[in-house]
Amino acid sequence: MAKKSSGSVRQRILKLFLTNVGRVVTREQIQQVARDPKTKKVPENWHQRLSELRTDYGYNIQSFRDTQELRVSEYRLVSATPGPVAGKRVKIAAPTWTEVRRRAGDACQWEEDGRRCGLRAGESDPVGGGTVKLTPDHKTPHSINPNINPDDPDEWQALCGRHQVMKKNFWDHRTGKLNVYAIVQAASDQDKRAVYDFLRSFFGE
Ligand SMILES: [Zn+2]
Repeated sequence: MAKKSSGSVRQRILKLFLTNVGRVVTREQIQQVARDPKTKKVPENWHQRLSELRTDYGYNIQSFRDTQELRVSEYRLVSATPGPVAGKRVKIAAPTWTEVRRRAGDACQWEEDGRRCGLRAGESDPVGGGTVKLTPDHKTPHSINPNINPDDPDEWQALCGRHQVMKKNFWDHRTGKLNVYAIVQAASDQDKRAVYDFLRSFFGE
């Protein structure tokens, strides 16, 4: 696919923020610049590109989760100068990982509503499909704790692939609760429609 002259979706979103440093940028404005110049379609993953500007490029883009001055669907770039990007991810030491797996009984330690996922390495995943592979997860997100000890088994847990992804995308470390809004935001149009119908019926509209 040929590169568009107007830059990638991420570059276009960044440009929008850079021309509005310190000012509120709305979801509609972002979607407008994210739109494919040819097909005029808004890419479904625009929100992912926005996250990358934060996590991979270090831009301090606030949302309503960061400040009460912003409402849902409003964003603000605080400074044109990106902050330091979280350094190289710290890898768990091999003996520590062995110990973490031993303590976990070689099963995923994700807990939801007080229930543990418990899928064991090598089993087939009844929800996500495929074979369960456990990987080390630092309990505190790297973004908020750069001081990670690769040798302390207490800092780590074993998670299956599905729950690694879920934690990364959909877990709000500030509240310790599922980030329902982000989940719906990332869902397909079809799923969004289903949620929309559910909410309408839930609220009796
Ligand atoms: Zn799991």
